[in-house]
Amino acid sequence: MTSPSRVGIGFDIHRLVEGRRLMLAGIEVPHPLGELAHSDGDVVLHALADAMLGAAGLGDIGEQFPDSDPAWKDADSAALLGRVVALVARAGWAVTSVDVNVLIERPKLAPHKAAMRERLAGLLALAPDAVGLKARTMEGLGPIGDGTAVASHVVVMLCHV
Ligand SMILES: [Zn+2]
Repeated sequence: MTSPSRVGIGFDIHRLVEGRRLMLAGIEVPHPLGELAHSDGDVVLHALADAMLGAAGLGDIGEQFPDSDPAWKDADSAALLGRVVALVARAGWAVTSVDVNVLIERPKLAPHKAAMRERLAGLLALAPDAVGLKARTMEGLGPIGDGTAVASHVVVMLCHV
């Protein structure tokens, strides 16, 4: 018997370096540093993709989109997430809600949060009130606190369709 709903959790972290764009939830946030990654390095979309794949029993982002595949070099993670939405839909699941933590010391994300939520809602075909988004610092602790990394935790709920 198929259960009517599933929960998934995802986490991602990338180093922040000069000469890269800071992509968060499909939005470019103005900042001198951006994520170092094979793709565009959007930690929110990567954690979200992992949470969705995990909930649907489809493995993880590394299995579905290997770093060794040149197709994903500097890839738009929104396109990658679209592939994940399609994979999850083919398996019979749809996202009903998502809750996101972004761990970043700077810049402050308050001016960008509405746009990030709206973008996530658009990518997942959800109402904005089904998308939670919180940003917090690490109080100066560790590599995130030093401003040399950014991370994200995402929890998703899937329902069987
Ligand atoms: Zn990533």
